[in-house]
Amino acid sequence: MDLQAIIIEINLYSRMLNPRKQTARPNDRHAFLVLGLFFMGWIFAGCGLIAQIRGDQPDDSQEVDSVEAPGWIIPEGEPQFLRPRTWNLLHQAVQMGFDFSGRAVNGTTELTLVNLRSVSRELTLDAKTMSFNQIRLAGETHNLSFAQDSATVTIDLGRDFLQDDTLRVVLDFTSQPPNRGLYFIDPDGTDPTRPTQIWTLGQPEDNSFWLPTIDHPAERATQEFWITVPDSMRTVSNGFLISSVSEPESGLRTDYWRLDLPHAPYLFAFAAGVFKSTEIWQNDILYTYYTEPRYDDYKNMIYDRTEDIMAYFEERFDFPYPWGAYGQVSVRDFIARGMENTGATFLYHLAQFDDRGAIDRDNTDLIVHELVHQWFGNLVTTRDWANLPFNEGFANYFEILYKRDRMGYETGTDHSLQHQKDYFEEAQRYRRPIIWNEYQQPEDMYDRHTYAKAGQVLGMLHELVGDEIWWASVRNLLRTHAFSAVDMRDVQHIFETELGESLAWFFDQWFYEPGHPELSVRFENVRNPDTEAHEVRVTITQKQDLSLQPLYRMYAELDIISGLGFERVSVVVSDEVNTFYFPVPQPVTDVIFDPYGYQLAEINEETGALQLRIRMAHMEPAVRYRALEAIGKQGLAEQFSEDINYLGRHDASHRNRAKALALLRGQEGIHVLQTGLQHWQPERQPDVQVRLAALQLLGPFTAQERVRRTLSEAIRGESYLVSAKALRMYAAADYPDAFNQAAGLHGTYSWNEVVQEAVTDALIELGTEEAAALLETISLMPGDRSFSNRAQRWLEEQREAAEGYSDETTETDADTEINR
Ligand SMILES: [Zn+2]
Repeated sequence: MDLQAIIIEINLYSRMLNPRKQTARPNDRHAFLVLGLFFMGWIFAGCGLIAQIRGDQPDDSQEVDSVEAPGWIIPEGEPQFLRPRTWNLLHQAVQMGFDFSGRAVNGTTELTLVNLRSVSRELTLDAKTMSFNQIRLAGETHNLSFAQDSATVTIDLGRDFLQDDTLRVVLDFTSQPPNRGLYFIDPDGTDPTRPTQIWTLGQPEDNSFWLPTIDHPAERATQEFWITVPDSMRTVSNGFLISSVSEPESGLRTDYWRLDLPHAPYLFAFAAGVFKSTEIWQNDILYTYYTEPRYDDYKNMIYDRTEDIMAYFEERFDFPYPWGAYGQVSVRDFIARGMENTGATFLYHLAQFDDRGAIDRDNTDLIVHELVHQWFGNLVTTRDWANLPFNEGFANYFEILYKRDRMGYETGTDHSLQHQKDYFEEAQRYRRPIIWNEYQQPEDMYDRHTYAKAGQVLGMLHELVGDEIWWASVRNLLRTHAFSAVDMRDVQHIFETELGESLAWFFDQWFYEPGHPELSVRFENVRNPDTEAHEVRVTITQKQDLSLQPLYRMYAELDIISGLGFERVSVVVSDEVNTFYFPVPQPVTDVIFDPYGYQLAEINEETGALQLRIRMAHMEPAVRYRALEAIGKQGLAEQFSEDINYLGRHDASHRNRAKALALLRGQEGIHVLQTGLQHWQPERQPDVQVRLAALQLLGPFTAQERVRRTLSEAIRGESYLVSAKALRMYAAADYPDAFNQAAGLHGTYSWNEVVQEAVTDALIELGTEEAAALLETISLMPGDRSFSNRAQRWLEEQREAAEGYSDETTETDADTEINR
């Protein structure tokens, strides 16, 4: 199927075919833009003016606003290129033990490599701040000489290795990773709030802080780890646990883990700690779910859906899960939310919750994201960090697809619109091409361009090529590039092969240029000059600063709405000013661009009261959300209070309900009070964010006894988040028993200590003597905890204020004395 056919097919859906397009101008702006960026050295202060002068004059001169220099920047950096490759790492075996008090790794590693050059006499490995006791060839005792700098070790191999010769080299090393790559958590066991653990996080090139290796994503090796830990600890690593040998005299145990399929060194990983685990064999996959012991009973909730997510993607990808075993473990103080180590995903400790915490949250997004990486990232791997959006874009987009298919259209759409919002927020600050080699550090790539924007662009690609081509391409990509590294051009070529058409324009504008379309959408009811028939003229203008961003080509839908219903038509937006005429049976009341919310475009439009009302009743959740946003921005929430209240109670999208209720905050209508009293309850609203937004509505009504009773009931409710919010509101209302309510919850467990945080806030809010006494107790609670620190700070402030007051009194007295 080619693109034209897709457009026609969509058009057939509509009775209004063949929009008459007025303007079609040749466009050399794109080439100009690229050259301009190259030669102008990103000078953008004056570029707005250039864009204005060069800009095509649209029909309606009011469309041209004076173009200002953007508030965002294009970040600068030195281009990063692939480094030369001399050796191919085939296999790495590591034996390691730990010095907890010295925060050190003592290890021996054997690397098997093949020479890629005609002759090599040296081997350079990544080894950051590491010391070597001995380096030798395997099977030999003779020490090899080596030289080190802060990032590498270069070994003189003592003889020449010819092309394709195999080298086996053994290194005895000690590393003290500076909280990079490998992390000791409470290694001395002195913090009662933290378990003692070790875990690694190799991405992007951090494993070489603790292990000498070739730390590059395009490298790929099989792996064996022998990990020696205190016998009380469990270990989790890539592949399968082959054996476990205890040494009773030392109290240590050595676990032997092996992965027989090659993967990139940044995915080498292990964790050690006291964990409980559950194993499930299903469809030839060994699932292991690990938690800290207190969460042992809740594994089914914490790792809910894992097997369904696996089945879903195995079927969609038509490629069985490659790694045989899949472990998931939550580790303490993890510096990411999750990391997709091959066959052993690590999650942050807040992914753990009990049955009450399960009311407030689930890990679906995270579990989908990391599991998708087992194919997109681990099986097929980004060639370099400039192409990290290959890994992350697919992982992010498949979160949306899974949720849409398995948890409902609205839930998937909510998630997608949230990703758009995330990206647009970041784009206020800076815009860069998604695929970008000018980062300073690989870590600079961990932003919303790499994640949310890349995912949204892949979503648009899916819409553009259609389901059949999309899945054929995804499957082709996995088949063709399994166990190898790719960049985004490889993805482009696969999609082009399946589609039979060039997609260079799409990949260029979205992946290799910064920015996004900023569209002005206007419509007007007119008469056809020849037939006098009704027509609607729709003008879509690309308003983005074209000196910095491309002129986009977009295939989009429009809903044309009149008293007779609506028609959905397709348009191609490719010029700066695009004017379309559609025949209509009568004057229309609204034209809605992109009702599904697929396009990653900022849309500027004038929406009157009637349009907003129509949009709030539209079938598409994206349209309703945009209407709510417009109402918020225009300050019209009072005017539309009843409609918003209806959406807050009944919208099929949780996100829309929460958004609507948030708009009613502070309003005093009786319907607002009723919603607040009823919709915080789980029987009315399953989603906790909606319940919190409903509870917030009671703020203006706290003088009423029934509101006090409701808040008191909410404090004792099941949801930790609801309980915490209700307690804060209760204290803010200064009810007589507020202290008792707070004191009653002090010291109780809650997910992420959200209730104890609220207890602390409530006591500070009350500020009474008995509150201060309890805050004293809280400030002395062990461990480094934010609420405890906050209590301490508040108490110090009180003391300082008291002292300051007495100082002031003294000064005043002194002044008085002098004056006297
Ligand atoms: Zn990811």
